[in-house]
Amino acid sequence: MNYVSTRGIIDESVSSAYAIKTGLAKDGGLYMPESIPTLAEGEILSLASLSYCERAATVLSKFLTDFTYDELLEDARGAYSVEKFGSHPAPVTKLSDKEYMLELWHGPTAAFKDMALQIMPRLFTRSLRKCGEEKTALILVATSGDTGKAALEGYKNIEGTKVKVFYPIHGVSRVQKLQMQSQEGNNVSVSGIVGNFDDAQSGVKKIFANEKIKEKLAESGVFLSSANSINWGRLVPQIVYYISAYCDMYNSGSIEMGEKIDVCVPTGNFGNIFAAYVAKLMGLPIDKLVCASNVNNVLTDFLKTGTYNRARDFHATISPSMDILISSNLERLLYITLGSEKTAEYMEKLAAEGKYTLAEQELAMINSSFVGYYTTEDETRHKINKIHKQKNCLFDTHTAVAVHAADCYLEDYKAERKILVVSTASPYKFARDVFLAVCSREPADELSALVELEAESGVSIPAPLKDIDKRPVIHVGKIDKSEMEDATVKFARS
Ligand SMILES: *Cc1c(COP(=O)(O)O)cnc(C)c1O
Repeated sequence: MNYVSTRGIIDESVSSAYAIKTGLAKDGGLYMPESIPTLAEGEILSLASLSYCERAATVLSKFLTDFTYDELLEDARGAYSVEKFGSHPAPVTKLSDKEYMLELWHGPTAAFKDMALQIMPRLFTRSLRKCGEEKTALILVATSGDTGKAALEGYKNIEGTKVKVFYPIHGVSRVQKLQMQSQEGNNVSVSGIVGNFDDAQSGVKKIFANEKIKEKLAESGVFLSSANSINWGRLVPQIVYYISAYCDMYNSGSIEMGEKIDVCVPTGNFGNIFAAYVAKLMGLPIDKLVCASNVNNVLTDFLKTGTYNRARDFHATISPSMDILISSNLERLLYITLGSEKTAEYMEKLAAEGKYTLAEQELAMINSSFVGYYTTEDETRHKINKIHKQKNCLFDTHTAVAVHAADCYLEDYKAERKILVVSTASPYKFARDVFLAVCSREPADELSALVELEAESGVSIPAPLKDIDKRPVIHVGKIDKSEMEDATVKFARS
């Protein structure tokens, strides 16, 4: 199975290892498999009797054909170990007769990015070897919080790689900062930037575009790479848990084999929900995909009107991992639905004019699978409060956005199908806002919010966040944004 660019401007067809090694296609497009593999008749039934890692190796081997099943199984077992994820990496729980939750936050950083970033570094180093690459990969990350920590945890001590994270020193939460500052590992480096997230991100982009730096790094046997969600190696592991969840719902008697379900995903960069769509295209019985946004509702508008318009106010919300105005992976949906020529045309329009509009029948094709809803800040808090009162369940802010959207969808569509709602973070990762929603008062401070929330709810703090303030702080580096290049070269040589 080879991979092609969503834009098709340069005619290239590459192996899965090469696609993972390079991340972005040469014409600026994203890599997609030439065709979507299918689940054979009866295959879901046979997957249902397997472990999560075996399910992962089976599904991944359909896409990553230059990896052996045994390599993929070894990587899945290394990534989703009991020590890191507990007994099930992606369990399904029941919220009501119609609503089920897919919990994706049992990994080392308590957010769903772990599902991809624990296995991707393993796939990545194998890809380097398969491509005959001998240099060390330096993964550069600019983060507003969650991705940086998940990348550090994923790449730490991974042979053939180094990882450097830049975060805005005053732009992340206390918990997020402590998570990064206490990061262990022999190949990691973390710097706080005096500036905001955009400064960190544009600094990283500048380094990627700087040929002189690349030459300097090459002298030290290092090349630059990124871990962001447009890399196919981050997307493909996310397909697995939708298929696995269907198997688990079947095993627990919640659905019949072949019964269609709907899926609702709290969405930012459109990676997670796109993975669900690929599972559907493979033949998993999914009907509608509900795209849940916060008040940064560019996708809700797009799915309603066919116009994608990024020219709008940016809102900093209590579900910050979804505060996005350009959802990069939407390009993959355009490609699958409309082909590469149209995709290239719309992406050019987006770059030049900040917006594009689909033709009516193009939108209709997308709407046959996708619907969009958005949730306001008040609705998010009310949902957390209500579900805690009624069911004694605690949801994080991103998950609450999705539960609210799922409820609206059920009300509007009167769908008979069961709906699987994706839960993307532990409530403790966003303890302050969850505490405020549950108790209607401020916690004493951000860190005590964890303990106060535990006392209030009786739900234990997950191990990765417990005693976060008592861990040794290793990375206190604070630099000006003008020093990012030097810091990168210095780390590469270390
Ligand atoms: C990244 C993230 C999302 C958004 O996922 P996308 O794949 O970018 O759409 C939702 N919730 C949480 C907690 C996240 O960290």
